[in-house]
Amino acid sequence: MKAPICEVCLKTDDILCPADEKKLQEGIISELDVKVARLLYKLLGDVEIEFKKAVKAGDLIVIMVGPGDVPVTIGKGGRNIKALMRELGKRIRVIEGLEVKGTDEVKKLATDLLYPAGVFGVNVVYRPGGVRYYKVLILGRDRKKLPEKPNVLENLLSQMAGGEVKLSFI
Ligand SMILES: [Zn+2]
Repeated sequence: MKAPICEVCLKTDDILCPADEKKLQEGIISELDVKVARLLYKLLGDVEIEFKKAVKAGDLIVIMVGPGDVPVTIGKGGRNIKALMRELGKRIRVIEGLEVKGTDEVKKLATDLLYPAGVFGVNVVYRPGGVRYYKVLILGRDRKKLPEKPNVLENLLSQMAGGEVKLSFI
């Protein structure tokens, strides 16, 4: 299993090696990344998947994995998700992680996160001063299909995309 911490740290439960401790101190990885990496390793063992990152907001934790790794991570009948929910006390969503370069990647991330609500489109909005954010357009009639409150989803999407994301209902 590929993870943001090394194999030795995946197998232990308490301390991190100096290299991974440094990553944690510098904010390259979070406490949640460490916790989820170790839980996934316990559940899945040494399988060929990549755990990239986990983010949380509200009642939801989003686990980002490599291309094609979602089914293995979820497990048969969602058994890994159930175990993670028990351990972490939150609802879990597993999504393919992407490096965001523009609206295409934001649209993919939003489509996965907001399901079963649909994503109509994504725009880049420039604020005075040149600061930009991504605006995810959702049909008003899909509002009640969202898996969480819009502000929680905006928070999660911003963490996932590494930049500000807002939802807009049309
Ligand atoms: Zn380590």
